[in-house]
Amino acid sequence: MRRAKIVATLGPALDDEDQLAPALEAGIDIVRLNFSHGEHDTHAKRLNRVRELAGQQGRNVASLADLQGPKIRLGVVPSGGVRLEDGGQVVLVPGREHLESHVDADGTPALPVTYHALAQDVQPGALVLVDDGLIRLVVSRTDGETVVARVVVGGRAESRKGVNLPGVRVSAPSLTDKDAEDLQAAVELGVDWVALSFVRHPGDLDVGRQRVADLGGEAPIVAKLERSEAIENLANVVQAADAVMVARGDLGVEIGSERVPAIQKEIIHRGNDESRPAITATEMLESMLTSPRPTRAEASDVANAVFDGSDALMLSGETAVGHYPVESVRTMARIIEVAESSPHLIHPQPPHLGEREIRRVVASSACRVAEDVGATALAVFSITGGALQLVSTFRPPVPIVGLTPSELTRRRSAMLWGTEAVLVPMKDQAGDLIEAAERMLCDGGWVSSGDRLVILSGLPRAGGSTNRILVHTVGTEPV
Ligand code: PGA
Ligand code: MN
Repeated sequence: MRRAKIVATLGPALDDEDQLAPALEAGIDIVRLNFSHGEHDTHAKRLNRVRELAGQQGRNVASLADLQGPKIRLGVVPSGGVRLEDGGQVVLVPGREHLESHVDADGTPALPVTYHALAQDVQPGALVLVDDGLIRLVVSRTDGETVVARVVVGGRAESRKGVNLPGVRVSAPSLTDKDAEDLQAAVELGVDWVALSFVRHPGDLDVGRQRVADLGGEAPIVAKLERSEAIENLANVVQAADAVMVARGDLGVEIGSERVPAIQKEIIHRGNDESRPAITATEMLESMLTSPRPTRAEASDVANAVFDGSDALMLSGETAVGHYPVESVRTMARIIEVAESSPHLIHPQPPHLGEREIRRVVASSACRVAEDVGATALAVFSITGGALQLVSTFRPPVPIVGLTPSELTRRRSAMLWGTEAVLVPMKDQAGDLIEAAERMLCDGGWVSSGDRLVILSGLPRAGGSTNRILVHTVGTEPV
């Protein structure tokens, strides 16, 4: 049984049903709609297709809407790009999609940059990275309207390539006008999670959460950590988020890829410690864009992300535009399973217990009880999913099965490490819990007669919070 979950980005490569159906079957737990690309109706069609197929397959698949955020890009330049020579100069023209001419009066190359406030936000000496850092520029001067930069490492600057300003306090709000429109579409689609890109501080998450609420949505917020400001504020950002993503693509450009591995561990550890699911993302099986097999380094990266304590691992281009989307999911699933069953596995530190935090103490104790009595499964009654998420972060060695009356909680549990969930009628939450848990877990094949089952639930009279741990042997009369 695989415990860490798989997020797969939808895209043209999975639009073909011959690919999508087996890719879901191979283990996709969450589909990611990447709002950096594609029209709203394309996302709607894709998500509806996923829901239909997942329903047919009897799989619980959640959805994640990933908003582009204030991603800065070059505008459109002539095909073939604009050549920038090492040691030369370039003029950057902010807030523009197009330029009439790509050389200025004295023959210096000129590039349109989509970001309006570029000339206000950068100072002389600031680094400007284009195309994942392949092209490096240093700002020489700005006159408030354009930016003149020296080309440190040149190359061909092509249309729509990403632009990063490491260390610059970019003034653009982290929820752009486009994001607001995309968010509305995402809420209308009923997505289960919303990811915000380039968050800087907790305020950005509050804005996103408020906007979701204003739209009548309930989706929790994933903070994509891909900016040095967010890393400086890491503890607060993790606390303010509902889940976190190690967004290694932009993070690597912003802070240098050599700093990513240690920061990945820190982000995941803090996520675990605060009981926030942590997703590790980007280039996990990059070579599988064009190859049916991963490199050894990629296999090792996937396994290490598991060892670090990730709740979920993400595929990006591999499933969106790659040649081998199904093989990518299968490969990732297999590497995770083997990593998780390895005798060499070193478990990350368990989360803190918190002084007198009843919910955490009870969740952690239920995991201990399940392990110590040799239970076959741990059943958790959970309406909002809060108890389920807490239990998951204590990483019990047995399957966690959520019993919930909420369809939303059931779907969201797809993101939680080691967790599955089934719907139970609301009346079961207050009725004979042992009977309900036994019935649901036997029906689902998690336990059978003679197995020990640990049941975590609330006792309504004690305020309804999760506060009762029961051990039950399946098929016997409870005493
Ligand atoms: P992106 O985010 O793919 O939306 O850019 C992930 C990352 O930057 O790693
Ligand atoms: Mn990114």
